[in-house]
Amino acid sequence: MSIVLNEYELAERMIRNHDLGKRPSETLNRVAKYYYANQYGKKEIRKMLDTFMVQCDPSVSLSGWSDMLDKIVRNVDKYKIIKMDGIDVSTKEMDAIAQLDGKQLQRLAFTLLCAAKYWDAVSNKNDHWVNTPDLEIMKMANINTSIKRQSYMFSGLKTANMIRFSRKIDNLNVRVVFMEDGDHALHIRDFRNLGYQYLKYCGGPYFECQNCGRTVKIREPSKGRKQKYCPECSVEIHTRQMVESVMRRRNVVK
Ligand SMILES: [Zn+2]
Repeated sequence: MSIVLNEYELAERMIRNHDLGKRPSETLNRVAKYYYANQYGKKEIRKMLDTFMVQCDPSVSLSGWSDMLDKIVRNVDKYKIIKMDGIDVSTKEMDAIAQLDGKQLQRLAFTLLCAAKYWDAVSNKNDHWVNTPDLEIMKMANINTSIKRQSYMFSGLKTANMIRFSRKIDNLNVRVVFMEDGDHALHIRDFRNLGYQYLKYCGGPYFECQNCGRTVKIREPSKGRKQKYCPECSVEIHTRQMVESVMRRRNVVK
């Protein structure tokens, strides 16, 4: 599962917009947990998921999804829906990261730190472990590189005493060992593009989309006007504005 700080809000939005999102199984999981948090029983939730699926896609074949939906409902009470405002990173932690050699390694350390803080908030027994697969970590850190370079970076962080590996053979997780409370340097509310958020903090050319909240790169060359939206949102908003203006003109003609 990708990390979403406020699953409750997300599920509410998906239900309202009849939207399965890019990862339907994750959306269905969160929607089920949302219903569960709102006191519905498993039987009711199972029916509600069918309804939600049909709302999202009227041509859907429910029988094709039924095994997955059964499984989601069976496990709906295993983990509580997550409702977090965000996590804080201290200036001491940022200083420790800044000591590392190179922005890519710093981005990875920053992302692992944020992920460990998330897992600590989810479970008080977590003790700074990062329970997120490397693939997901790299995506959040906006790092696109070979597996070889990835393991090189992980061992670099270990040498720098920033992380430790598990002693268990079947556990590939790492533990962050440079957490330190203190003055807040920044508050992270969105776990998408953590790498870009780090670079933005360092003064890089990034901004937060006013529609979806993602941190993205500023388009080059900037044509004077300050960019407000990420490329996806700007297409969506432009289309909506065009439709609205056509509707307005039609009303005037009438
Ligand atoms: Zn956006």
